[in-house]
Amino acid sequence: MGREFFIAGNWKMFKNAAESREFVEALAREFPVAPGLTVAVFPPFTSLEAVRGLDPRVHIGAQNMFYEEKGAFTGEVSPLMLRGLAEYVLVGHSERRQIFHESDADVNRKLLAALQFGLKPILCVGETLPEREAGRTLNKVQGQLDIGLAGVSGADWTQVIVAYEPIWAIGTGRNATPGQAEEVHRHIRGVLDQKAPGNRIPILYGGSVKPENSLELLSQEDISGVLVGGASLKVDQFSAIIHNGLKLLGA
Ligand code: PEP
Repeated sequence: MGREFFIAGNWKMFKNAAESREFVEALAREFPVAPGLTVAVFPPFTSLEAVRGLDPRVHIGAQNMFYEEKGAFTGEVSPLMLRGLAEYVLVGHSERRQIFHESDADVNRKLLAALQFGLKPILCVGETLPEREAGRTLNKVQGQLDIGLAGVSGADWTQVIVAYEPIWAIGTGRNATPGQAEEVHRHIRGVLDQKAPGNRIPILYGGSVKPENSLELLSQEDISGVLVGGASLKVDQFSAIIHNGLKLLGA
């Protein structure tokens, strides 16, 4: 089977609606449609309407959502509200887990709700620096996968994406080496093959991905794409990462 790459940009709490629209229009001019390549950006909720349907090359995702369909949950956004605005949704990003205290059980409820409402969840997992130093990386990630993916079945597996994001590499400029990333990705591949045999669930790497390190990261056998934070905020940098994917696809 040929390679496929998913290149995603998490904008976090940056870019208003006008800036988001301008970015997507500019980005779409930077790369061709290519078999095997999917590009997606994850703007803040307030920009989703502005970027909806702008260009088929740039898919749209949300950075978070609540798991209830509606109700007295001040400040939350439901999967039902995202339907039609976003194709993907990040669940369990480490900033949600650490700053907003989301548990694995919360993340699992979000993931199942996303699937129920036709959104494709990207489940983020990853270890802290002390956990890595204590040799607990694979255990930690396995636990997050076991709880985060509990209850997924049948055709829903084709809608799921996993992102491995070591917390010590997010926003720090310190990326995992391609070897360190590949070791965890290979482990995740084994876990996913057991949970969902026959499904080739994409496994993205995230954590200080930049144009300079993206080619080598994407060259690893079990890395099916990247989730990019800081470097996805500039058209030239994000497009350089996309072009490294295109290079490896031979496009
Ligand atoms: C992220 O927000 O998921 C991320 C990986 O950020 P950065 O690329 O800035 O480390």
